[in-house]
Amino acid sequence: MTVERLGELLTEVFGHESFRPHQEAVCRAVVEGRDGLLVMPTGAGKSLCYQLPGLARGGTTLVVSPLIALMEDQVAKMQALGLAAERIHSGRDRGASRQVCLDYLAGRLDFLFIAPERLSVPGFPEMLARRTPALVAVDEAHCISHWGHDFRPDYRLLGARLPQLRPAPVLALTATATPRVQEDIAAQLGLVKPGRFIHGFRRTNLAVEAAEVPPSRRGALVAELLADPARRPAIVYTPTRKEATALASELKGEVRAVAYHAGMTARDRDDVQARFLAGRAEVIVATIAFGMGIDKPDVRTVIHTGLPGSVEGYYQEIGRAGRDGLPSRAILLHSWGDIRTHEFFLERDYPEAHVLGDVFRALKEAPVPTEGLAQLVPLEPDVFQKALEKLWVFGGAVITPEGDVSRGKDGWQRAYDEQREHRKTQLVLMRRFAEGPICRMLQLVRHFGDEEDDGAPCGLCDVCAPGDGLAADTRRTTPMEEAALRRALELLRPRDGQTTGQLHAEVVRQFPAVDRRAFEELLGGLVRAGLARLEDDAFEKEGRVIRFRRVFLTGAGSRPGAAVEARVAVPPPSTTKARKAKGAGPKRERLPKLPIPKPSAGRPSLPHGGARGKPGPEAPGALPALVDALRRWRLGEAKK
Ligand code: ADP
Ligand code: MG
Repeated sequence: MTVERLGELLTEVFGHESFRPHQEAVCRAVVEGRDGLLVMPTGAGKSLCYQLPGLARGGTTLVVSPLIALMEDQVAKMQALGLAAERIHSGRDRGASRQVCLDYLAGRLDFLFIAPERLSVPGFPEMLARRTPALVAVDEAHCISHWGHDFRPDYRLLGARLPQLRPAPVLALTATATPRVQEDIAAQLGLVKPGRFIHGFRRTNLAVEAAEVPPSRRGALVAELLADPARRPAIVYTPTRKEATALASELKGEVRAVAYHAGMTARDRDDVQARFLAGRAEVIVATIAFGMGIDKPDVRTVIHTGLPGSVEGYYQEIGRAGRDGLPSRAILLHSWGDIRTHEFFLERDYPEAHVLGDVFRALKEAPVPTEGLAQLVPLEPDVFQKALEKLWVFGGAVITPEGDVSRGKDGWQRAYDEQREHRKTQLVLMRRFAEGPICRMLQLVRHFGDEEDDGAPCGLCDVCAPGDGLAADTRRTTPMEEAALRRALELLRPRDGQTTGQLHAEVVRQFPAVDRRAFEELLGGLVRAGLARLEDDAFEKEGRVIRFRRVFLTGAGSRPGAAVEARVAVPPPSTTKARKAKGAGPKRERLPKLPIPKPSAGRPSLPHGGARGKPGPEAPGALPALVDALRRWRLGEAKK
């Protein structure tokens, strides 16, 4: 297969004039029969990297894909190009699936899309193995790794099944994989000396903004931001289903908005998604269930109304903005209290190891039906389900193709605990991202270990271009704060690059009112004023990574007598008083051993009651009248 021939297919079959960056190199490697790992952002054109080599190699390309909608969409597109593409998934009837199998065995298909769970259907992998595919493509490959953010247990089946399909080369594709997840993908799929194509995390048309906004103000702010038609179409991500529904109806008066979440029926979801894709709805208010594989080029804005659970997920979500290359925005609204929603989800999705232990001890060597097992363990059905799923993932339980379960290996607990820790670390990193006054794009690029990146600040985000931000409220520093900052600059001049902790320890001697958190906030003001920059650093201690930041002066900051005209984020109104009056500060973090700074008196979360509709302990059952009364009281306190 010559390179010219690849170019010919590109124009003749796909109608593209030229390759996008990196596509050609990937296609060449795959045509030559090499395994590959391809990590490029959403919209970069990864699909072509298996479609083209698959055709060039001749025979059938098997594509593993995690979502039915995604599969249907891809198959329709390929059929429209005149290619013989088919799919087998749970949404199709037996007759149709059988016909597809016959076509596959007769060599009539260019592409066959399958859902990963098909691989556990008895006889199906054997059927596939009766022919050697030209290529196996694993799309959204990060789903195989529990170190990622979107783990799908079904993807684990792949590792055991792929050997039967060799010597076909295997290409794993994803838009979101940290170096650790990349390793995991390669190991789980048994990739053989894979070509690694890790490219292009930097987005040059995306202005990323993170702003601390109290939950009570977020809805109105979203409405205000999206009132400008130039900021639509837009995707708004909310932390919970309830908030998605509530915000969508709140917005409906102004714009054509729809809600999307996993609690809706598949048909309703398909319907609102189709409306959004076709432009009949301009705003989709969704949980993170929305968006995988979405190919809508003109999304102008992605807003998050709460802190996401991981930088990987966040990057994936904002990556859906501006795929057409035109200027776009990603706006993250967050505050300290957001962490509690995550604690709730973490407790739900990762039960404590002793809960898994209860299930593990009930398991026997001989497989039993799941229902029978459930009766032996006194757990809520949901909790039981989660615990069993996790046991399976970590090797403590074995699930037969018939759905029966038996006891697995002993060593699951260590891996499971490590995984729980990892989830918490992801949250810590996400918070550092949101709070740190370091170029947002640069933080993202570094997070993914993009080695070819030049490391330059983006010039667009709220740190690089504070004046262009839309969401953050800022205020001038007080004379005392300004004096503290001047002192900080003085201290840095002889000793640049101090850690923020060291610097604070010095400054606080003279300015005892400036606590650590307030100081970090002030440093943000220095950065935004162009006088300093911060850098992440870390060291390892007793097997744990301790993260911290260093402060460096810029050229302007190092000039003695530089005017300090810093602006800082406005703290949430009245919180200090509300807390004192009610004694209702945030509960201490229930995440043990986490290097999360303690909330200072200035930053407690508001007593939001059920207003946000989040599933935390305070949400259900709160009477609207009571919530209203509390709100009025709080407002009164604030005015005082
Ligand atoms: P990804 O999977 O990386 O998110 P897709 O494979 O869905 O991205 O491609 C995104 C869009 O880019 C698709 O509409 C596709 O047709 C288009 N595309 C891919 N490669 C090219 C190319 N070489 N020239 C022009 N358009 C391309
Ligand atoms: Mg894709």
